[in-house]
Amino acid sequence: MEPLVIDAGALAHSIVRYPIGMTFFTTPERLEIGGHPLICAGAKATREEALKYYRGVARVEDIRVRPYTRLVTAQRGSGGLVCEVDTPQGTDTLTCDKLLLATGYFDHPNRLGVPGEELPHVRHHFDEAHRSYGMDVVVIGGKNSAVEAALQLFRAGARATIVYRGARWPESVKYWLRPDLENRIKAGEIGARLSAQVTAITATDVRVQGPGGAAALPAQRVYPLIGFHPDLALLRRIGVAFDAETGRPQIDADTLETSVPGVFVAGSVTAGNRISEIFIENGRFDGEKIFGTAPERAKARDVYASIQRATGE
Ligand SMILES: Cc1cc2nc3c(=O)[nH]c(=O)nc-3n(C[C@H](O)[C@H](O)[C@H](O)COP(=O)(O)OP(=O)(O)OC[C@H]3O[C@@H](n4cnc5c(N)ncnc54)[C@H](O)[C@@H]3O)c2cc1C
Repeated sequence: MEPLVIDAGALAHSIVRYPIGMTFFTTPERLEIGGHPLICAGAKATREEALKYYRGVARVEDIRVRPYTRLVTAQRGSGGLVCEVDTPQGTDTLTCDKLLLATGYFDHPNRLGVPGEELPHVRHHFDEAHRSYGMDVVVIGGKNSAVEAALQLFRAGARATIVYRGARWPESVKYWLRPDLENRIKAGEIGARLSAQVTAITATDVRVQGPGGAAALPAQRVYPLIGFHPDLALLRRIGVAFDAETGRPQIDADTLETSVPGVFVAGSVTAGNRISEIFIENGRFDGEKIFGTAPERAKARDVYASIQRATGE
């Protein structure tokens, strides 16, 4: 096979969008693909080391890559599956025998649905704390991404406030982040509003409604970090059946083929809206499940099961 990888962004665009300088929580051997070793300077790889690694794998495996090419839809034609794509030069079509959708979720941030959310100082992906030095910044959300961003912003000299709709930080917050956050809040170094709903974002502040009533929190930058969802509209356009409640595509569990013959899914999109169920560690064997020989498929299933057991998923 001579697969062609198209990506709406650069190669491994989701990792490109990680916060600059971020360190993976996964140890390097569990990020490896195709038997290629991932070497990194510290115990865990950084965003930059992972990008270098994945482009190295694409190079040595001689994989054809078309970056900045977004799949819009695909329909079966006489010569195979005809894919309509958007490129910087305009629309184009690509024909293939098999189409594998590994579209993840990172392109589609959950929205607050409040006025002002599209203002230019509002970012739904956390980029780099340094950019906020000396500024008032409001982070919205209470899970790992939001907590980590608030801590980094504080350490980079921003006046950070974290706003969360829950009454307490969720159990899923990493065990080393929680005490750090709680101690910073106790010391008055990071502002916090729990049980608070954002009602609007303006050019100068974030309006919240909480137990103490309404408040306007000064904000020159705003980061709503409230999760992501898969592109179900794309599945719908292609005709892939999925569960309306969970967003999980209907698939053959052994081959990952969808309800549309010749169209497969891989990676986190297989879990629908449960985006934390499949991550790099356990999604990286989906290629073997789809295209591998019988022993390779069996091995992929075993490794997947052992990781699910180890992570308690
Ligand atoms: C900050 C952060 C830290 C993380 N740390 C870890 C970690 O330490 N360990 C771990 O295992 N996981 C980690 N994850 C989760 C991990 O990134 C995802 O589980 C993983 O990237 C999912 O892989 P995927 O191939 O399914 O999708 P993605 O990696 O999201 O790839 C999807 C790709 O599809 C492209 N795309 C989307 N729609 C289209 C379209 N219509 N046409 C063409 N291309 C399209 C996107 O541009 C993207 O490049 C982290 C996630 C985040 C956000």
